[in-house]
Amino acid sequence: MEIKSIKQFLDEIRNLETQYGRPEKSVTLLAVSKTRSTAEIEKLADQGQICFGENYLQEAIDKIQSLRHRNLEWHYIGRIQSNKTRQIATHFDWVHTIDRLKIAQRLSSQRPDDLDALKICLQVNTSGEATKGGVSFESLSELAFAVAELPRLELRGLMTLPAPAYEMEQQRRPFHEMRKALDSLRQQGLDLDTLSMGTTNDYEAAIAEGATIIRVGTALFGPRK
Ligand SMILES: *Cc1c(COP(=O)(O)O)cnc(C)c1O
Repeated sequence: MEIKSIKQFLDEIRNLETQYGRPEKSVTLLAVSKTRSTAEIEKLADQGQICFGENYLQEAIDKIQSLRHRNLEWHYIGRIQSNKTRQIATHFDWVHTIDRLKIAQRLSSQRPDDLDALKICLQVNTSGEATKGGVSFESLSELAFAVAELPRLELRGLMTLPAPAYEMEQQRRPFHEMRKALDSLRQQGLDLDTLSMGTTNDYEAAIAEGATIIRVGTALFGPRK
């Protein structure tokens, strides 16, 4: 696979925004840097990339600490164990993978006072795979209203990682459901603006359906080992 520079990727995003009738700059590129070295991250930071996504906590904290001087924005996109919430609340700006109230409550109570509220997306299980994280569409509204009440969290929207699909039409289906779910929560009165969806394999479908954050690793860094 061809590896794209940040500029090339942003140009492509701007083209897709136009093609699918999305407002200009409504899509943010989150560079998924799990398993990548600090040197690889700095290479993208030198090209102007600010937002990075990490899945593995210890590895992430080491990188966040050694890149502190670069003022990057860190998004936690991995599974959350309840004994790790304090570290997540301390080191990250965003968390995309909330699917239980208990975890959200812990993050809210553990968020340090000198930091802004932690920005949150609720992870939705759009593929019905039992092994995958995420709340069901049926339970989403109840969780969203409960999380929105937590003082040190700022609920921003929804995230999903669907089962891989290889045709555009098939890829768009779960993303379309996500867009409807976000619209429905907004109609119920929640102030939400974020849909975190789309990876190297399906970011075009996600942009077509309203993604505001796409999470891309392989297309920026090459295949993971
Ligand atoms: C690894 C990962 C990505 C990026 O996947 P690529 O195929 O490398 O673009 C996006 N989202 C989540 C939740 C991930 O774990």
